[in-house]
Amino acid sequence: MPNELENVLLVVSGPSGSGKNTLLNYILENRPDSVHSVSATTRAPRFFEHDGVDYYFKTTAEFEQLIDEGGLIEWDKYRGNYYGTLVSDVQRKIDMGLNVVFDITIPGAENVKRLFPAETKTVFVLPPSIRILRHRLVNRKSDDEETINKRIEFAIRSEIEKYRDFDYVIVNDDLDEARRNILAIYDSLTNPDSENTAAAERFKKDAFAEHAEETIRKIREEIRADAEEDAGEQIQQ
Ligand code: 5GP
Repeated sequence: MPNELENVLLVVSGPSGSGKNTLLNYILENRPDSVHSVSATTRAPRFFEHDGVDYYFKTTAEFEQLIDEGGLIEWDKYRGNYYGTLVSDVQRKIDMGLNVVFDITIPGAENVKRLFPAETKTVFVLPPSIRILRHRLVNRKSDDEETINKRIEFAIRSEIEKYRDFDYVIVNDDLDEARRNILAIYDSLTNPDSENTAAAERFKKDAFAEHAEETIRKIREEIRADAEEDAGEQIQQ
């Protein structure tokens, strides 16, 4: 998929509940030259989702046909469902001269980067704490408690440290600040003369590593404290 127009492919990833979707929407609302990559999935639509807007909803057979035909730039399986980025959707948006933003899994981000290294920039969104991550997942009301616990466990066990493979890192602590930061990253990539270019430097992975490591340390301590509390409660019962 040649990209003669040199559009930016901005991939935003992070654990479920990190707030990446809110941040990505903020770019879409504020930058008319940006557009969302609408993925294909075999997951059932949530009550507020529309086919062709949030996802292209497919059967497993349809999705597997897309894989066989080479219709996907990348695909991944997440919690038993297929998710994949459509060549046709992204190509059409590139042809329109737009910058494409992606909300995809961490392996998906790595694959897009590998396939389009010059055009792709990746942003990892870290949650500030497990308490906040849980709060967001509960408020979203789309998963039961067991699913939420599994998502959190997955985030801790295999996701948060992957930030090291990304170009930029944001901790989604204060939402207004995180919005400003993601926009600064977008502007610096799409318009290097932007006054936001200097601001974006702070979120380059190496510049931000100390803050990211500190956040991960705090998350691990939180998990340990929660586990000790649970063990204490069990002894008392
Ligand atoms: P959800 O079911 O909550 O909409 O999405 C579940 C996960 O699938 C999220 O982490 C989302 O970023 C990811 N996802 C959505 N579309 C794609 C895609 O096209 N490719 C990959 N690799 N992941 C995707």
